[in-house]
Amino acid sequence: MARDPRYDILFEPVKIGPVTARNRFYQVPHCTGMGYIRPRTLAAMRGVKAEGGWAVVNTEYNSIHPTSDDLPHPSASLWDDSDVRAHTLMTDAVHEFGSLAGAELWYGGARSANLITRLVSMDVKAMPNTSGQPFSTRAMDKEDIRTFRRWHRRAALRARDAGFDVVYVYATHGYLISNFLNPRVNDRSDEYGGSLENRVRLVRELIEETKDAVGDRCGVAVRFSADEEIGEDGKPIFGERREMFEMLAELPDLWDINIANYSVEMGVSRFTKEATLEPYMEWVKSKTTKPVVTVGRFTSPDTMVSQVKRGITDFIGAARPSIADPFLPKKIEEGRFGEIRECIGCNICYSGDSIGVPIRCTQNPTMGEEWRRGWHPEFAQDTPEEGRVLVVGSGPAGLEAARALGKRGYQVMLAEAKRDIGGRVTREASLPGMSEYIRVRDYREQTLMEMLNVDVFRESKMTAEDVFATEPDHVAIATGSTWRRECFDEEAFYSIAEGEALARVFTPDDIMDGTLPDGPTIVFDQDNYYMGGVIAERVLQEGHEVTYVTEADSVSSWAGNTSERWRVRSHMTRLGIKIETAHSLTHFDGETATLECGYGGRAREVPVRNVVLVTSRAPNDALYHDILKHAGDAPLPFTLTRIGDAEAPAIIAAAVYAGHRYARELDTEVDIDVPLMHDRVDVGAQPGVVAPARWK
Ligand code: ADP
Ligand code: SF4
Repeated sequence: MARDPRYDILFEPVKIGPVTARNRFYQVPHCTGMGYIRPRTLAAMRGVKAEGGWAVVNTEYNSIHPTSDDLPHPSASLWDDSDVRAHTLMTDAVHEFGSLAGAELWYGGARSANLITRLVSMDVKAMPNTSGQPFSTRAMDKEDIRTFRRWHRRAALRARDAGFDVVYVYATHGYLISNFLNPRVNDRSDEYGGSLENRVRLVRELIEETKDAVGDRCGVAVRFSADEEIGEDGKPIFGERREMFEMLAELPDLWDINIANYSVEMGVSRFTKEATLEPYMEWVKSKTTKPVVTVGRFTSPDTMVSQVKRGITDFIGAARPSIADPFLPKKIEEGRFGEIRECIGCNICYSGDSIGVPIRCTQNPTMGEEWRRGWHPEFAQDTPEEGRVLVVGSGPAGLEAARALGKRGYQVMLAEAKRDIGGRVTREASLPGMSEYIRVRDYREQTLMEMLNVDVFRESKMTAEDVFATEPDHVAIATGSTWRRECFDEEAFYSIAEGEALARVFTPDDIMDGTLPDGPTIVFDQDNYYMGGVIAERVLQEGHEVTYVTEADSVSSWAGNTSERWRVRSHMTRLGIKIETAHSLTHFDGETATLECGYGGRAREVPVRNVVLVTSRAPNDALYHDILKHAGDAPLPFTLTRIGDAEAPAIIAAAVYAGHRYARELDTEVDIDVPLMHDRVDVGAQPGVVAPARWK
């Protein structure tokens, strides 16, 4: 379909110094958990974004020198020529589709502990490590600053040699350069501290030196925060930021603007909606003639147009929307709006970097698998397949399996016991703040409706007999999981109540089914992700007193990896939910719960009417076993596979991935002994490590 003229503005070229972006879609630097460790995986992933229409595709943060190393969070690097060669894989992949490649240069300062290189970190002053490691920095003297500027310049030259078109000066997110700007951190008495002009000096020098080094070939971008902090009322406090910006406004070729609070800038959808940065951006464009990019988890083409037309930004910056749908620009350009796979704002993508593993995405199962498995986000295998596949269960696993199988050409029957499809996402999306999770269903439902080879059967609870009667060639069991009404002590499951008290023990399934507790309630969280906090809020909405209890040392401890734990904690406190960390729940008699303190084992009786156990889930695999039993000793007349939560309950991203993998691998040769390619240096056939001569 031809482009709707309403969106023409999004496809105008924009100049960034000496280079020109072919449209306004700009993938801002974002971490991937791949960095310098997995260059081929990275290059293929970034290349797909260029193919999908992103005019500028950036790296993640590139360490410019070994005195700034972020492992276990794998950054990229620009230390030497081997990095140049590795990055060339990416720039070639991006250039192949006519896009620009950008490199973000990074120096962590007090936020990097150099756990791999074991070198001492440097920052504006001597201070403790700010990411919780038991190390500290030494203050940079003037010689260090000169040395640092040289390293930055050399890294910029390497970026140019690797073929990058845009090179960043990274002055936000609490890293070294932003610490020079920050009056609370920077207490220097030399020409790099004190007055605003002095604190801005280093950024100014870096911009000028980067322009001098590579400005004839590359656009120079600066990443800068529009605000100092967020006020109590949620309004931005700009402090000196405007004046600072005005001093530098015309120096770079592009301004990449974000905000000081990371958990708002890339907030989860529970707390942060599309275009959240707009109140922070109000003054930026009026102070510079240079193009500006900012983010806002933009997925709506109309919002994008409005942002550009109202002069808030020149580029539509995106990390997450480009991860969830690398083809977002192309789909807008071709009017394929129904095919847009909208980001749900769950931040599972970010958790990869937090944990130090490659990126994954709830909505896009191919993310990070472009090279290793050869998966493309839009195309299935070339040869159309024949055969009838029955998928039982329409949660994220079943829906994605049906979609991807349909795309491969199979005749697909998707049977769902309930009237509504979507499984857990349909249920969870009705909980407080979770509405955007429904996009996991909506994208797939919309796509399935247009596939003539996929039939969806609602209110069709399948038995083993039904499955055989359908006479399929293949059966995928995607029947999901059920929340357990018991706890787990890392070795065994245990029950906390018996008799009548058991009737007052609830699970998240009860709550989602509308069976709610009445009276003071303890929500006991052993899941430690989002569900405990969300269920506590749902019970509170009924007007009951709620105490959230966890054995962990913090609320929603795993959600630290998605950068939402801090928001959950303050949200719960604001709502008036009581919080007990480091306590286990050992018994409940219907009137009193026994809590045991993890620090000293001291037991305490708490009067309470109900308990909701948010502990773990059991797979719904009865149908799978019934089918096997039904066949007896005879071979099954179809292939049978469990996928998603029915195989092993996990996060939604894992269920979507399982559905996708099933569809990709059906009827293909998979060597289960060697199923995956490694992305790492091959040491070749020569054996062993050669000891340095001095060892001998
Ligand atoms: P997953 O996360 O693995 O996709 P979900 O729990 O989200 O799993 O979804 C499982 C879906 O399977 C639910 O919608 C449930 O109603 C459906 N289901 C379970 N058992 C059957 C069955 N025997 N026949 C048809 N649908 C079923
Ligand atoms: Fe969006 Fe979640 Fe995918 Fe990240 S993982 S891009 S937040 S859908």
